[in-house]
Amino acid sequence: MKVSAAFPLDKIAKPLLKWFRAGARSLPWRDDPQPYYVWVSEIMLQQTRVAAVMPYFARFIAALPDVRALASVDDDALMKLWEGLGYYSRARNLKKAAALIVEKHDGKIPRDFDELLSLPGVGRYTAGAIASIAYGERVPAVDGNVLRVVSRLTASREDILRDATKRVVEGDLAAVMPKEAGQFNQAMMELGALVCLPRAARCEECPLSSLCRAHAEGLESDLPVKAPKKERRVEDRTVLLIERNGRFAVAKRPKRGLLADLWEFPNLPGEKKRAEILALCKYAGLSPKSVRRMKAARHIFTHIEWQLTGWHIRLADDAEVIREKFAAYGTSPLPPLTWATTEELSDAYSIPTAFKAYMPAS
Ligand code: SF4
Repeated sequence: MKVSAAFPLDKIAKPLLKWFRAGARSLPWRDDPQPYYVWVSEIMLQQTRVAAVMPYFARFIAALPDVRALASVDDDALMKLWEGLGYYSRARNLKKAAALIVEKHDGKIPRDFDELLSLPGVGRYTAGAIASIAYGERVPAVDGNVLRVVSRLTASREDILRDATKRVVEGDLAAVMPKEAGQFNQAMMELGALVCLPRAARCEECPLSSLCRAHAEGLESDLPVKAPKKERRVEDRTVLLIERNGRFAVAKRPKRGLLADLWEFPNLPGEKKRAEILALCKYAGLSPKSVRRMKAARHIFTHIEWQLTGWHIRLADDAEVIREKFAAYGTSPLPPLTWATTEELSDAYSIPTAFKAYMPAS
């Protein structure tokens, strides 16, 4: 299989680079493409838009200016810097990779594609982006934007969600990679992000329109081909905002799995009614001062959707909360409860966005 059979991909570099140089967006990691900046930005940009990444990137670099600082950062401080960006395993992998870079490469990010690929959290796209943008290596960096652009340029009907298709596109681009590899890769991504848009390609603004097969054949909106995704599993959960003496109960999630090692409010599977919450309190030996339903919320992960119900349970200041009693009721998590003020919740604990609807106002 060759995605771009007989397509003159070698013709795209010149007009593409001219277009990119004339109007490339100024981005901090682009204006100063040192390897550490390129790496951190590329990890942040996985699943997150440029505009949302900008303030996080600035904050992250100010707090952790180099690989050694990242390798030795405290886990909670790291999670706090990442709070709100989602997909927290990205941050954990950054730290693990930084430790490896310090240990094996004396703190210098490797330039070799395969060495980069061996780092935690670095896939083929990210390895290609770092090697080409930071070091000028002539390797491709194929993300979803690039796949869409190539698929349309070549009018390919291969499923771009298949790994095999991606490998073929990588091979085709590697074969025509100009010496300005970093700029070429960024230009392809930028074209996909700003012009060759998923729903409505802006072909009239495209520097490659005279070469593009999809445009010539009017196939822009039919391409790329993507096999249908599996449906998300929908789960109901009930979040308990338990307040005692002006503090709120939080606990750390398990070290593995969804939202691993982050802080959360105790929560139970299913949508619990008032009578069930009162029964739980009674079982736990508690007589709440008030039990108030909070607004419903929804949080979407890649494969799961949480539909959330919340209950604010206000306890007497001296109430004794025995976590085993809650655990027996199926609450997550099992680890000990910690009591935090509203200031501590916002400044010191990394509460994932999934629970943000239940954050008490400070
Ligand atoms: S001409 Fe249109 S479809 Fe083709 S690459 Fe450009 S924007 Fe995409």
